[in-house]
Amino acid sequence: MIKENISLKPYCTYKTGGEAEYFASPTTNEELVSALKFASEKKMPVTALGSGSNVLISDDGVKGLVLVLSELNDKIEINDEKVYAGAGVILDKLVRTTVENSLGGMECMSGIPGTVGGAVRMNAGAFGTEIKDIAGMVYAVDLKSLAEKKLKNEECEFGYRKADGLESMIVTGTEFMLKKNDFELLKSKRDDIIKNRNIKQPLNFPSCGSVFKRPEGNYAGALIEEAGLKGFSVGNVQISDKHANFIVKTGQATSADIHKLISLIKEKVQEKTGYILEEEVRYIGF
Ligand SMILES: Cc1cc2nc3c(=O)[nH]c(=O)nc-3n(C[C@H](O)[C@H](O)[C@H](O)COP(=O)(O)OP(=O)(O)OC[C@H]3O[C@@H](n4cnc5c(N)ncnc54)[C@H](O)[C@@H]3O)c2cc1C
Repeated sequence: MIKENISLKPYCTYKTGGEAEYFASPTTNEELVSALKFASEKKMPVTALGSGSNVLISDDGVKGLVLVLSELNDKIEINDEKVYAGAGVILDKLVRTTVENSLGGMECMSGIPGTVGGAVRMNAGAFGTEIKDIAGMVYAVDLKSLAEKKLKNEECEFGYRKADGLESMIVTGTEFMLKKNDFELLKSKRDDIIKNRNIKQPLNFPSCGSVFKRPEGNYAGALIEEAGLKGFSVGNVQISDKHANFIVKTGQATSADIHKLISLIKEKVQEKTGYILEEEVRYIGF
């Protein structure tokens, strides 16, 4: 079950990065705990990946055990207005299923790539709804004790694109608290959001979505435009001319190339506008 020296390129949306020293893709909590025991015995670090849609993986690879969790507990269970989804469920599949069952609360998250586990860990959100608004119980395995845990919403310490209470946890599943609503209304909201994403985001190129968090009182994309960088590229890495907070890969490029452009944006934006941009993208193995 545990493999060595596996390329991580297929496991992130940028399709860049080096190898995992050790690699596992557990499908059940038992497999997960057994992989974690292996890492704990060897005293090695553990890195979690869902769909890798919000990460930049070092070209030098990642030491220790990398867990790809996109197949972990891949099931959805609907019980009236409560919906349980395993960590490996694709978030957008979950949103579609809730809409099809006339359950409202998740429709604004239509089209966000990635898994339920990654979305919970990131407190993902769009159009005014975040995971924290709808998460009930979060199921996890503690990286230190290897015990299975149930965390209440407030114990996850959700914040803007973070969940500090889950810092040393692997999310295995989450219960969402939704509300019955009109199917046609939910469906048209979902369709509009997906249409809007297609118009406003450069979805035909690899990216990690928004590279930077929204700074207080402004927008990262607007600041990048103000710094005159929209459309700017170095080699095959470009600040999208469609959405300046997206960095897209237009051909062969490495994580180091992408990282270089991120650093340049931070430097120029601070110089031109005074704002210090903070990354939303998570660096892995850097
Ligand atoms: C085109 C595009 C559009 C996007 N639009 C949005 C948007 O509108 N809103 C938004 O919030 N995000 C957006 N994103 C970013 C990304 O889709 C979200 O952050 C998503 O929730 C990440 O899920 P993932 O499974 O890919 O996580 P990954 O990118 O694999 O991981 C993200 C973080 O979560 C951790 N993690 C992953 N799985 C687990 C787990 N089971 N347990 C514990 N930790 C875990 C990782 O270690 C990492 O720190 C977009 C990305 C792209 C490419």
